[in-house]
Amino acid sequence: MLNPDENVRYVKGVGPRLAEKLGKLGVVTVSDLIYYIPRRYLDRSNVIRISDIKVGEEVTVVGEVKAAKKSITPRQHRKVLNVDIFDGSGYLSGVWFNQLYHADRLTVGTEVAFSGKAVFNYGRLQIINPSYDILREKEDPVHTGRIVPIYPAVAGLSSNMIRRLIKNLIDSGVKVKDPLPQDVIKKNDLMAILPAVRQMHFPDDMLVTSKARRRLVFDEFFFLELGLALRKNRLEQTNKGISHKTEGGLVKQFLDGLPFKLTDSQRKVLSEIAEDMRKSAPMHRLLLGEVGSGKTVVAVAALVMTVQSGYQGAIMAPTEVLAEQHALRLKELLPSTIRSVLLTGGQTSTEKRGIREDIKNGDVDVVIGTHALIQEGIDFKALGLAVVDEQHRFGVRQRISLREKGRMPDILVMTATPIPRTLALTLYGDMDVSILDELPAGRQEIETIVADQKHRDDAYDLIRQQIRMGRQAYVVCPLVDESDKIQIKAASVEVERLRTKVFPDFKVGLLHGQMKREEKDAVMRGFRGGILDILIATTVIEVGIDVPNVTVMLIEDAERFGLSQLHQLRGRIGRGEHKSFCILFADPVTEDAEERMKAIEKISDGFQLAEEDLKIRGEGQLFGPRQSGMPDLRIASLVRDMKILITARDQAFDIIRKDPVLSRPENTLMVDEVKKRFAEGAEWLFSG
Ligand code: ADP
Ligand code: MG
Repeated sequence: MLNPDENVRYVKGVGPRLAEKLGKLGVVTVSDLIYYIPRRYLDRSNVIRISDIKVGEEVTVVGEVKAAKKSITPRQHRKVLNVDIFDGSGYLSGVWFNQLYHADRLTVGTEVAFSGKAVFNYGRLQIINPSYDILREKEDPVHTGRIVPIYPAVAGLSSNMIRRLIKNLIDSGVKVKDPLPQDVIKKNDLMAILPAVRQMHFPDDMLVTSKARRRLVFDEFFFLELGLALRKNRLEQTNKGISHKTEGGLVKQFLDGLPFKLTDSQRKVLSEIAEDMRKSAPMHRLLLGEVGSGKTVVAVAALVMTVQSGYQGAIMAPTEVLAEQHALRLKELLPSTIRSVLLTGGQTSTEKRGIREDIKNGDVDVVIGTHALIQEGIDFKALGLAVVDEQHRFGVRQRISLREKGRMPDILVMTATPIPRTLALTLYGDMDVSILDELPAGRQEIETIVADQKHRDDAYDLIRQQIRMGRQAYVVCPLVDESDKIQIKAASVEVERLRTKVFPDFKVGLLHGQMKREEKDAVMRGFRGGILDILIATTVIEVGIDVPNVTVMLIEDAERFGLSQLHQLRGRIGRGEHKSFCILFADPVTEDAEERMKAIEKISDGFQLAEEDLKIRGEGQLFGPRQSGMPDLRIASLVRDMKILITARDQAFDIIRKDPVLSRPENTLMVDEVKKRFAEGAEWLFSG
């Protein structure tokens, strides 16, 4: 009997070479192999007999390879591979052109499944380019059963070989202890772990696979949420944080000085934040908000509260452009006695040295910056509140680094666009959540139109018409890389075309990320002041820019943008009292791109759009780079398994409520399981 933590080398049939190949699939331990689950199943009861095939149908047939012949077509000299299979009822051949290498795997005596469209050529039943799965290699002893698992394979390691290894492993037995408490298993009607694993790989019928899967998905979510619950509880229990003073002259001055009245939603969120900040336990809160709902003001109010209490505040943004925009905003919003400073990677070392000194000596109150903020050598005199403008781009590790710049400072994380509920419950599941879902009064519904090139003139007409009515327009051109000179040149050519040919009667300005700060400021001043009618820009205008008189946005090559970015861009219009139009020129070549365009056209609510985005993007890459610190989800899907996630989260948080550090003997197994699953991320779970 093998131990799950042992190296996969000890599984029967795995030598050093195979172990290396398995490593490429992420399979290092015995446990990794157990949880290497099938991509799909071949159900033999859906397989058709060759003699029953009707020509033209899509079919799957299973047979034994009787012959594999290579030849050359007479005229075009294409290399042809014919693989004939026999299933007891008749013959069929799989045909490939210029892909003779399939012959290496489809040797005589191999049992194989072919799928594809059956055709009748030269008096023979054929499938051209069948997709195929090898079910049994010649003299392979594994009995495959009625349902055959098909595994994700790599070169030199076929699904079939993986199946054999897993069969060996399961037959010889593994010492898997069920990590879930019995009452959780009972309450949720879950399968026990061993039968679930066995049925996942070698199911008795297709129905049971979904039950087995449910158990494994539950485990993934449960231990993820248990980790988050442990961490959340741990943070709440420390009383070593800062007890802020959230009212006072500065705060009053700031609130009284605002050019508008806070929305009810803003007031509610701000009072949630203030309540956290008054407590001595460190705040760890996520601010989720619709685009344009006014998150920045809320964050700035919190920064004022920390300054009011004698501490420093910091706000970290993922890009320099964003950081600069925040810096400008803060200068406008903060009472003049509060000293703020911008810190980015692009500054000269002398500049940086001076800023570092000021931060250290407490000569600045609020620091706005990029990653530069969490670098070595940046020491705060007394950091009281750190705001992270996350934009999905920072991982938990960076959040900790910022936290470590102070002694238990309060943390406020903001997302730039709404995120799906499942992501909020996983990626940010250890935080309290505030939601800003109300837009300031007077915002207009935006009409979104996805257009093709034929309607270019109509779009330009709309822009002219709006400008004649006194409005302004944005034209957004994507630059994949803001520092790419060729792309910037292409953009300038487009600017010239629009200036001289399309809009000769209007004033057109250009804004991109590579322009000098003063140039950018000048252009923005001109546009804000109404001297410029049209602003051609790259996505630098995505965040922060706010000119309510603009009523048209035209986005070029819209298919290149992600949904949240499009939503963020579109959020730049519809801010005044006039109806606004967002026109997207798109040439969607992929199915995903087409779905994205449909979604942005019909959905205006950011939260709904985020859910749609998740569905379109599907599985994979949801947690972003590994730096997120979260355990991988191998089986569970944030799209399909939302219900299981919510149940598992409830149960996990319930357990921590009753046994906050899992010290009861019956619960210790779970601590090990959490640590194992979070791997390197575990350090974060158990840190301050
Ligand atoms: P986001 O939540 O997208 O970051 P911002 O913080 O950029 O939104 O705010 C969008 C715009 O709305 C800004 O111009 C901001 O000054 C303005 N704003 C914020 N709150 C209010 C309010 N209560 N009433 C009117 N305008 C507001
Ligand atoms: Mg913002």
